[in-house]
Amino acid sequence: LIPAIKVKNISFYYGTTKAIEKVSIDIYQKKVTAIIGPSGCGKSTFIKILNRISELEGPVKVEGDVEFFGQNIYAPRVNINRLRRQIGMVFQKPNPFPISIYENVAYGMRIAGRYSKVELDEIVESALHSAALWDEVKDKLDKSALGLSGGQQQRLCIARALAVKPKVLLMDEPCSALDPIATMKVEELLHSLQSELTIAIVTHNMQQATRVSDFTAFFSTDESRIGQMVEFGATEQ
Ligand code: ADP
Ligand code: ADP
Repeated sequence: LIPAIKVKNISFYYGTTKAIEKVSIDIYQKKVTAIIGPSGCGKSTFIKILNRISELEGPVKVEGDVEFFGQNIYAPRVNINRLRRQIGMVFQKPNPFPISIYENVAYGMRIAGRYSKVELDEIVESALHSAALWDEVKDKLDKSALGLSGGQQQRLCIARALAVKPKVLLMDEPCSALDPIATMKVEELLHSLQSELTIAIVTHNMQQATRVSDFTAFFSTDESRIGQMVEFGATEQ
């Protein structure tokens, strides 16, 4: 087991509100780690600490360190944009851009550099295959992403995240807005991605954590211990 991310005694405050308290955890390469716990216990905040987007919410305070492949991302002079490009993110509500399916997936690579049409076509096709969506959309790549079902939109968002070849994929309750069939498809997808990618997934669904993850981090259910991690270990299958 090799850590991709080492979280060392991290605490996080929104203004004076404590959201995370002294959490330490290793997120291992090419494993799925589930972050589980009740609403308000700090799960979302925790994964957004890993790509430094929690701090976009306003005045915040961060204590402790996070090492991303050996680099302390909370050190001074860290290149945050470079960090964020290496971490894909998928949110609770599918949020495709109101542009074509193709352009949604190509988006990150268009920003990252100059790619030929042929190269972009390959990247888009490969990402859509990885997200198990290619067969469903290959004949309508130029159609608006907003015409897809909720489950397809979420897999498109996963394809968009994968297209830039991130080292880590963060998912914040990616199935809670989906129906059971769409949820099952995303869960199957997680299994197929695991051999190449490090994944951290927030869920409040214990059964889902058991189905998809190798490791489980439980955040406190106790009001007085908000933001504390109470247990971390291999998921019991
Ligand atoms: P979860 O994802 O487990 O539901 P969150 O990380 O969203 O928990 O929230 C943890 C705590 O931080 C909660 O008390 C929540 O109200 C608070 N919080 C979250 N986001 C903000 C914010 N932008 N400003 C102030 N407090 C916030
Ligand atoms: P989730 O459970 O997915 O984190 P929420 O409904 O808790 O979603 O939060 C939605 C948004 O509101 C997030 O950007 C979160 O950071 C922010 N938020 C949550 N709690 C608070 C709070 N107490 N004050 C300000 N913003 C908050």
